[in-house]
Amino acid sequence: MSVSPTASGVEAGACVARTNCRICGSRQFEPFLDLGEQPLANALLTRDALDSPEPRYPLQSQVCTDCGLVQLRHVVDPRILFADYPYFSSGVPTAAHFADYAQELVSRFLPVPGAFVCEIASNDGHLLRLLRQAGARVLGVDPARNVAAVANKRGVPTIVDFFSSKLAADIRRTHGPAQLVIANNVVAHIDDHRDLVRGIANLLADDGVFVMEAPHLSDMFERLTFDTIYHEHLSSLAVRPLTRLFGQFGFEIFDVKLLPVQGVSLRAYVARRGRRRMQPAVSGCLAREAALGLDRMTSYAALARRIGALKADVVSTVRQLKARGKRIAGYGAGAKGNTILLYYGLGRDEFDYATDEQSSKIGKFMPGTRLPIVDIVWSRQHPPDYYFLLAWNYKDVILRKEQEFVDRGGKFIMPIGDERIIPKEV
Ligand SMILES: [Zn+2]
Repeated sequence: MSVSPTASGVEAGACVARTNCRICGSRQFEPFLDLGEQPLANALLTRDALDSPEPRYPLQSQVCTDCGLVQLRHVVDPRILFADYPYFSSGVPTAAHFADYAQELVSRFLPVPGAFVCEIASNDGHLLRLLRQAGARVLGVDPARNVAAVANKRGVPTIVDFFSSKLAADIRRTHGPAQLVIANNVVAHIDDHRDLVRGIANLLADDGVFVMEAPHLSDMFERLTFDTIYHEHLSSLAVRPLTRLFGQFGFEIFDVKLLPVQGVSLRAYVARRGRRRMQPAVSGCLAREAALGLDRMTSYAALARRIGALKADVVSTVRQLKARGKRIAGYGAGAKGNTILLYYGLGRDEFDYATDEQSSKIGKFMPGTRLPIVDIVWSRQHPPDYYFLLAWNYKDVILRKEQEFVDRGGKFIMPIGDERIIPKEV
């Protein structure tokens, strides 16, 4: 079933409502959070585009009552979502994360130099470059032409395409079986999970390992991080539904880690059943998921109520400050911030602009709210009274960077979490 976007300019079929679960095939869903119709969170607008209507697509979250996978009801065509992706893995402040990650992968799974490693959605090739330096043979797959071009230039061979079971078979014919297949922050973006696992099965050597990293659903329950919901994130993952997914194809999750990366990230290690020793962390993570209520349908309605109360509190704080004549600007023009603004219904009436330090964003406008994005250097010279901290998950880094703003009496409004204004109002 197709639904039309609410504005012209997008071909029919660009957005499809799923009728069955992408892991277990069940048709029974419990809808719990409706964030309304939103434009694509990464689709920044140029000045020329301001005159045209923006396509909007429904953003509704639901949980499968059978396997427990939290997923969006509507799927936007990935060719629209990922054709020109603005994210570069070496551009975000997690270089140490990648270095540790590469070291662990080499020591645990790549004992022999020359082993073949393939990364799905390899972005600008940051991780693969580290693995190549450690002696691996590497190949990236990424559908975004712009980031793949950067990877190729840096000596990381990258196929510009979406990963699929067919492409995986082609890669195996050309390069041989892979000792390691990696997928970071992409599994949640993929609509056809079963074809993904078929592809891993086609590509992986018998004793090979698949390692994936993705935001873990627990963070949404613990800190109400509903801003991880945007059209690219088709699923919010947890170990329990993933166990079901991999189990259908003879694989098992034999180890997991929960990492404090952009909230809580799940790193899951997967191999053919019985090939690797099962680590106690897996049952530990399943127990944590059960303790948070991720396996109970009633938890999801309660989560939606808590997110609604958070919205009411933040919106009233911002409106009170505006009523007192305060000048407010958004800080960080990323996808998560966009979800926050559009769900809260905050925009040009409340904020003068949004500021960011990424040069590719400056001079453009945020989708939906059409807040202009200005250079942080300019903003420091013309500071508002308050920054609305859209990039709240980088709070500590940003507070250090903007110490001078704080010293001069500037404050930050937190859109998520228990703290509302930093430093506290006296
Ligand atoms: Zn399911």
